[in-house]
Amino acid sequence: MNEQHVDVAIVGAGFAGLYATHRLRNLQGLSVQGFEAAPGPGGVWFWNRYPGARCDFESIHYSYTFDEALQREWRWSERYAAQPEILAYLEHVAERFDLRRSFRFDTRVTSAVWDDSTERWTVTTDDGNVTVARYFVNAAGAFSVFKANEFPGEADFRGTVIHTSRWPAEGIDLAGKRVAVIGTGSTGIQVSQTIAPQVAELTVFQRTANFACPLGNRPLSDEEFGEAVANYETRRVESRDSIAGAPYPRAVKSALMDSPEERRKVYDKYYQGGGFRMLASTYYDLIFNPEANATAADYIRDRIRERVKDPEVAELLCPTDHAYGTKRPPFEIDYYEMFNLPHVRLVDARATPIERITERGVATTDREFEFDVIVLATGFDVGAGALMRMGVVGRNGRTLTEHWADGQRAYIGMATHGFPNLFHINGPQSSATLFNNPLAIEDSVDFVGGLIAQADARGHTTAEVTEAAEERYNELVREVADATLFPTATSWYMGANIPGKPRTPMYLFTGAPMYRAICAEVEAMGYAGFSFDGGDTSLPNTMRLDGSAVFLLAGLMNMGAKPLEECDLDEARAAMEGFRLMQLPIPADVTISDLSYPIDSGVRTARLYRPAIEGPLPVVVFLHGGGWIGGSLDSFDEPCAALAQRVGAVVVSPDYRLAPEHPFPAAIDDTMAALRWVTEHIGEYGGDPARIAVGGESAGANLAAVAALRARDEGGPHLCAQVLVTPLTDPMAETESRRIFAWGPILTSELGARMVSLYLGDPMQVTSPWVAPALAADLSGLPPALVITMEVDPLRDEGEDYASALEAAGVPTVCRRFDGLFHTAYSLSGAIPRVAEIQEAISDFLALRLSAEQVAATSVV
Ligand SMILES: Cc1cc2nc3c(=O)[nH]c(=O)nc-3n(C[C@H](O)[C@H](O)[C@H](O)COP(=O)(O)OP(=O)(O)OC[C@H]3O[C@@H](n4cnc5c(N)ncnc54)[C@H](O)[C@@H]3O)c2cc1C
Repeated sequence: MNEQHVDVAIVGAGFAGLYATHRLRNLQGLSVQGFEAAPGPGGVWFWNRYPGARCDFESIHYSYTFDEALQREWRWSERYAAQPEILAYLEHVAERFDLRRSFRFDTRVTSAVWDDSTERWTVTTDDGNVTVARYFVNAAGAFSVFKANEFPGEADFRGTVIHTSRWPAEGIDLAGKRVAVIGTGSTGIQVSQTIAPQVAELTVFQRTANFACPLGNRPLSDEEFGEAVANYETRRVESRDSIAGAPYPRAVKSALMDSPEERRKVYDKYYQGGGFRMLASTYYDLIFNPEANATAADYIRDRIRERVKDPEVAELLCPTDHAYGTKRPPFEIDYYEMFNLPHVRLVDARATPIERITERGVATTDREFEFDVIVLATGFDVGAGALMRMGVVGRNGRTLTEHWADGQRAYIGMATHGFPNLFHINGPQSSATLFNNPLAIEDSVDFVGGLIAQADARGHTTAEVTEAAEERYNELVREVADATLFPTATSWYMGANIPGKPRTPMYLFTGAPMYRAICAEVEAMGYAGFSFDGGDTSLPNTMRLDGSAVFLLAGLMNMGAKPLEECDLDEARAAMEGFRLMQLPIPADVTISDLSYPIDSGVRTARLYRPAIEGPLPVVVFLHGGGWIGGSLDSFDEPCAALAQRVGAVVVSPDYRLAPEHPFPAAIDDTMAALRWVTEHIGEYGGDPARIAVGGESAGANLAAVAALRARDEGGPHLCAQVLVTPLTDPMAETESRRIFAWGPILTSELGARMVSLYLGDPMQVTSPWVAPALAADLSGLPPALVITMEVDPLRDEGEDYASALEAAGVPTVCRRFDGLFHTAYSLSGAIPRVAEIQEAISDFLALRLSAEQVAATSVV
């Protein structure tokens, strides 16, 4: 037995292991020992030699980006290269960067055990040798373990049974043979359509019909290649910034915003040879809105019916048991036309399941079929199947299999608690399903390389994700999944294709940009969530957010939405109007009408929301948010209507003047004018002038708080309550939350400061209590208050400080903090289900404060 000592042991020589070796050995100068069970490099592209195997991201995207010269010199022959060419490419990479010498091929890792006393991994291989390493990098791939044959009787069969991922290099002569293909996922489709012209008979056993769309493969022209090479630099940036990790046009509309005719045009455009564009470039809501999804599913089913001549076969090929995109979308060339050939038949293996393999072929519950060759295209134990079989033992003798008994989990897809110095490349819960893999792999390797470099530079010997960080990230992955349709399907995305495997989201379903943003945040915070040598660590802000919020923010990134602080005034206003798209439908039983109220310089509009209840009703004057520079009656229709319905109140939303056209004090003057008008006239609209509350969100909450002060000091109008949702109470406040959440989301410090400055006009006003109610000399005598804050909001602390100050001044005050939510969440009810909790808190508070009994009792006192 040989024992060697290295810095890093790497298992796997696919895209991940090769780049990890280059980065850690060639660029970081670490000693590396790689292991690969196959006789050569290539990973899945070594193993999967079945006819028709090819990638389904274009090769100019499905390739390494780390070396400029490599990108330029490798000339892909087809738009989507076939397996032999991808394998040749990876072999070329291994030669070009001298990587082979760091690998032991034909060598399988059989155990990897962490030793706490030496802080080393002991890696044992099937040749009996031992490698001791500081770090252990799992580059063993997500598709390394194919699903074992589940049908009994294989040994009885007189012909050949072959799994697609063990296809021999010399091929199998299928000419004139009767062939069965079992499985109709990506691989089954690729292999069937490729061998159909060669075989005497082809029988496809289908358990689940899939939404396959045209791949659009063709030779890559010199012009296309030249264009790709000339623009690689920008293309790669665009790729990493796009939902799927490839620079496809962005989906920026809901499928429900287009007419059926417009939708048809969009789907036609991307169906024809668009690969993943059908999902990534058509409509953003396909993966979370069942109604939107149905439009795409119907479209694809119609195309299948057009292409397959026999209506019964066509119907069988139409998927009906899952939403489009919730299983890995396969791509095809002439798969559907193949079923028009006389020697090709489709067997419904769901209606008549396969019972066993027999001496002559396959027996279903219905009959026996005779074959010469049976091709198993039944998929993989996707995720960390390879690592689970590698005998990995972490701290205190705990095995990885034990740790993952309830499901595979890895912090940002890269690290597992109790297994220090073990890093996964594209591991479970990374975003690899929605992220073109070579780029995802490079990012993951670069992250791990950076982490090791930092640990080494600081003299740390162990890096381990904390239990809390792993747990929170795992929850986040589940919460994000719950915001999508993915959990509704039985798929390997959910770990549901292997009997007995716990059903859990195997990946983070946000798309590449959000995943990359999370990793960047972890890194920027000094590898937040990782404990070095047992030291303390914190959680990145994004992980504090509710999964629905993360999914929403991811959607904005996928659309390429400009951050608000980068927008000019018109763009910022338009973006705020866009929030309406993320609101629930307006309750039908609330009547909405516009009216006018006078201000010094003329009249303004106010919108009135009245529930279908007999009055007189309590009244809420609600000021919309938008940083005093944006927002509108329209953008707050839904929050106001929901408030009217829940509280059973007349809600009046004044259209106050906006800055910078109308700086301070225009907005607050309009607010006071609206309150006075409401007091005098609301009786005519079924409101009770003795029961008025003021409320608002963000800048609107600032106006509401100031209005309460002015109403007190100016002798009216009389207000029974104030509701302040994420109020700004002092522009100059130096709070902890302003520091921690300076980067948002949505509201950043920079944006907040810019809005305040536009609002003020004259900067000297910043200390006026009419701008900064927290600076008022006296807060006593104000109406009872409900202050609502969000955990992840720069304004959180000043809201809570204001609530404390009100209470200290004797004002009955309730302060509610909503964990996991962020500034503006209140106006995004369609995307953030927990907005219902905020609405409930407001209606509970107002129901009490505006009840006739309470108001009568208070006025007696
Ligand atoms: C047919 C097919 C087509 C695909 N097409 C696409 C595509 O178009 N786009 C896309 O983004 N992704 C695609 N994928 C996903 C693909 O897995 C990744 O793109 C990528 O190739 C993964 O590289 P990897 O290095 O992480 O893993 P792999 O390529 O799987 O390499 C892992 C290696 O680890 C080795 N190994 C495992 N266990 C051990 C052990 N105990 N000891 C020693 N060695 C071990 C394996 O032998 C294997 O060679 C496809 C996958 C398949 C199977």
